[in-house]
Amino acid sequence: MTRNLPSLDLKRNYDRIRDEIREALEGVLDSQHFIMGPEVESLERETESYLGVDHAIGCASGTDALLLALMGLDIKEGDEVITTPYSFFASASCIARLGATPVFADVDPDTYLIDMDKVMENITSKTRAFMPVHVFGQMVPLEGFYDDLVPKGIEIIEDAAQAFGSWREKGKDLKRAGTWGKAGCFSFFPTKNLGGYGDGGMVTTNESDYSERISRLRVHGAGKTYYHDELGINSRLDAIQAAILRVKLRHLDEWLEERRLAADRYKVLAAEYGLLEKISLPVELDGNFHIYHQYVIRAQDRDELMKYLSSQEISSRIYYPVCLHLQKCFSYLGYSEGDMPVAESLSKSTLALPIFPEITSEEQERVISAIADFYKG
Ligand SMILES: *Cc1c(COP(=O)(O)O)cnc(C)c1O
Repeated sequence: MTRNLPSLDLKRNYDRIRDEIREALEGVLDSQHFIMGPEVESLERETESYLGVDHAIGCASGTDALLLALMGLDIKEGDEVITTPYSFFASASCIARLGATPVFADVDPDTYLIDMDKVMENITSKTRAFMPVHVFGQMVPLEGFYDDLVPKGIEIIEDAAQAFGSWREKGKDLKRAGTWGKAGCFSFFPTKNLGGYGDGGMVTTNESDYSERISRLRVHGAGKTYYHDELGINSRLDAIQAAILRVKLRHLDEWLEERRLAADRYKVLAAEYGLLEKISLPVELDGNFHIYHQYVIRAQDRDELMKYLSSQEISSRIYYPVCLHLQKCFSYLGYSEGDMPVAESLSKSTLALPIFPEITSEEQERVISAIADFYKG
């Protein structure tokens, strides 16, 4: 009997840090301080130093991080925000939630990242912000965007939910995802590369006034408790999540290297098994440190392949089966099939293979040899 291979095995990760986690949790339980407070502040300071950014503001989820970042820019009805149709729903929903209009720009077929030429074509006098999504863990090459958009008064809000720790070369520097634009937005959803044991999120920025505003907006717009300067939301981070994330942050670099090693192994194996005619591997752009939140291939007969893998007890996932511009709730935006040909074709051809720091080379060989068996038919 072969054992089921999951897409992600969080239990193996917990086994490596069990004692540290228990100790951290005990500290929070002994303190009986559960929301915000010293653990959250420590996580914020450690995040600032890890990412190389001036301000990190913890909040309740990645979705809220995006919402808060846009609220901090007063994004509202009549404004347009350009983003990708090939991402998790929250990238666009937070724009619509504020009454603004998400404007989609198609993606690059090799990297799955938003296409800069398409972004430029979609700029209008109403464009207030651009939200690049560092999808699957590699950065959108922002240097080009920066020069073209920022002088026009268009702010960059990075959706870095899948890219905590990823970086890109900027001149001679290495600059982390989430520190390039006006704001970076992170998610600590359990399956993310830096994941808590519940919901959590973070906004980062280098601007003090903006940072103070976000800090206020997350606590009902209160500068001082019970004194509400403006209308905010309740989006606080729990001390228990912060304590867990502080433990995991100490190990993150090692885990990211292990993911990159696993990605290299898939590449070697796919070549060894002669699969490069049948599947396309993820492309890492020059200058990028891809952290492989997901290892997403494009495959001929994707749906059949997925079924076959499942019959071999190998899990795989489709990110994303429905592009954002075709979601029912966005039908009022007036997009139709064919408007984003690249993203639409990716939604029909991509497959995420199992990847996590603890995956073994034997397991990876099982995946690739099963794919080879499928195409031999
Ligand atoms: C996970 C994710 C989010 C939302 O984060 P939550 O913490 O689940 O709210 C936003 N954008 C992208 C690209 C994501 O992957």
